[in-house]
Amino acid sequence: MYEEIGDVLYDYGRGLYANITNRCPCRCEFCIRTMTDSLGSADSLWLQREPSAEEVIEMLQGWELSQYDELVFCGYGEPTVRLADLLTIAKYVKDHTHLKVRINTNGLADMIHGRETAKELAGIIDAVSVSLNQCNAAKYTALCHPEFGDRAFDAILDFTKDVQKYVPSVAMSVVNVIPEEDVRACRKIAADLGVTLRVR
Ligand code: SF4
Repeated sequence: MYEEIGDVLYDYGRGLYANITNRCPCRCEFCIRTMTDSLGSADSLWLQREPSAEEVIEMLQGWELSQYDELVFCGYGEPTVRLADLLTIAKYVKDHTHLKVRINTNGLADMIHGRETAKELAGIIDAVSVSLNQCNAAKYTALCHPEFGDRAFDAILDFTKDVQKYVPSVAMSVVNVIPEEDVRACRKIAADLGVTLRVR
């Protein structure tokens, strides 16, 4: 049994959020990890250890799910760092509950795992929200400091293009910390990719 369930599952509106890792290949300057230590009903999202997929499923089995519409993989780290475990949990949710499943991601799963990952989401994930964050590679790198350097930006665009073939709902987002002209440029990038852009 996992010690601190509240570090892993927390609610926010009609979404139940799952925080399954602290790990992330980026170091965004606006990251919630550096801004605050609480969100929604979670006291602290910093995991003392990563819960196994089985432990998260056990938590979900003991959680009243009727008040939620979706399970969102989000949290302090990048959820696709644990793609296999994420998909195991998501498959359980699809097979055993009414919840839709969304991933909020930095879009770098292909670089993290060294393979094209989007097709692995087919039939399991209902929605993906990709953080675009900036409008070109240099600006993205300066804001998000990806460990992959400037190659990260194009990888995010490729993933967003690719994942639309496998996931019904795909969107992008930017955080409201960049200049309006950059938001406009991001809107165009998202539109060219065929998705909407949400400013958070
Ligand atoms: S990609 Fe997300 S989790 Fe990673 S540093 Fe940026 S905001 Fe934080």
